[in-house]
Amino acid sequence: MPEPEVFGSQGSSGDIVIEGGTIWAGRGEHYENGLVHVRAGAVVYAGPPLDVEVPRGTPRLDATGCTVLPGLIDAHVHLTTNSDQQRVVASDVFRGQVTKPGKLLHGLRNAHRSLAAGFTTLRVMGHRGAGEVELRDFIDEGLAVGPRLLVAPWWITMTNGHGDLFFPPYTQRMKWDTADGIEECRKIVRLQARAGADFIKVMASGGMSKGEQPHWPNYTAPELAIIVETAHELDLRVAAHALSAEGIRRSLSAGVDSIEHGSYLDEDMAAEMAERGTFLVPTMSFNDWCQREGTERGLSAQGVADLSEAHDRTIESFTLARAAGVKVAMGTDSSGTLCPFGAHARELELYVEHGMSVDEALTTATTNAASLLNRPELGSLQPGAVGDVVVVEGNVLSDISRLTERSNIRHVVRSGRDLTRYLRGLSETLDL
Ligand SMILES: [Zn+2]
Repeated sequence: MPEPEVFGSQGSSGDIVIEGGTIWAGRGEHYENGLVHVRAGAVVYAGPPLDVEVPRGTPRLDATGCTVLPGLIDAHVHLTTNSDQQRVVASDVFRGQVTKPGKLLHGLRNAHRSLAAGFTTLRVMGHRGAGEVELRDFIDEGLAVGPRLLVAPWWITMTNGHGDLFFPPYTQRMKWDTADGIEECRKIVRLQARAGADFIKVMASGGMSKGEQPHWPNYTAPELAIIVETAHELDLRVAAHALSAEGIRRSLSAGVDSIEHGSYLDEDMAAEMAERGTFLVPTMSFNDWCQREGTERGLSAQGVADLSEAHDRTIESFTLARAAGVKVAMGTDSSGTLCPFGAHARELELYVEHGMSVDEALTTATTNAASLLNRPELGSLQPGAVGDVVVVEGNVLSDISRLTERSNIRHVVRSGRDLTRYLRGLSETLDL
């Protein structure tokens, strides 16, 4: 995918220098009082400010007193969900009542929120073809400002599976809303590839929505295997939503690339993930958010209790996975009113609360996530990396919580363009 020609407030050539402050370049490299030079949208230098030739007239950002990070990546979001924090709408009502164009407008607003929070890349987990592929391309072509999107056009689910049960029984279904059996599973992966998928999202266990149980397996092992085989033949990675032990087991033996949520992971499965190189995307913030704010946002007492239990399980899985050496990529499950866009860094704060160093936590949202996305040019400030840079006021390396306050995000640079003024304008006008 070509890098976009996004307009910024500082010229249009994709050149910029960020100087002063502590640079966290990824892969264990830090520089005090350093300098980052981005030319034509790509990093050409990050390090001490000595002996660097920067062409005259290159726009410069002062990062004194700040931490300079690569653009952050959220590897699990549901983009086309309710963006209106003032109007709480239950997710099933939103799904059933808002048209696809309506969802896409919410998606663009959510995308702006992520960008303003320093998240310059999002892995979008599908929403039954709400136009996220077109939005991705529109942004890539420079026709709208937004984070880089990697999209699964719609999630793959069996009839009566997680994602299918998001819609009430009387909802009119389309032929390819679900796929069952080997032939349909093969076909649906190919249909998604044709629709512009960057990766495949499959539901491999039940979830916690109305009318289902997380311990229900979704898809048989042979169905999962054909989905993975077909996707891998097309160079598409596969993300599996799997809460239950059986769902995780089947996903691993099928060879998926990441387990999303992974609530009921045990030691053996964690060892298998480490051995296979399967990523865990923990999505702690969704349950954390629901147990803190769920009641106010219309969840039932039982719903909040279930999600609190799921939160405890996720923390256990996270601990087991880390002990086994599983690679973790950061994902929040941001979904509109329940886990709003823009609050992504709460996930990193939770990782640190539950045992990671700040360095490890930042790695989950940068180089690890980039590696899961198969986009090694993202998530670092190494020469050759895409020029996405976030400047955060204060020392993030001693206090990860600095990232959770929008007012601390001083500058967001996307492919070499400083979008700060654009995002500030949006925030002031629209209460973003
Ligand atoms: Zn999700």
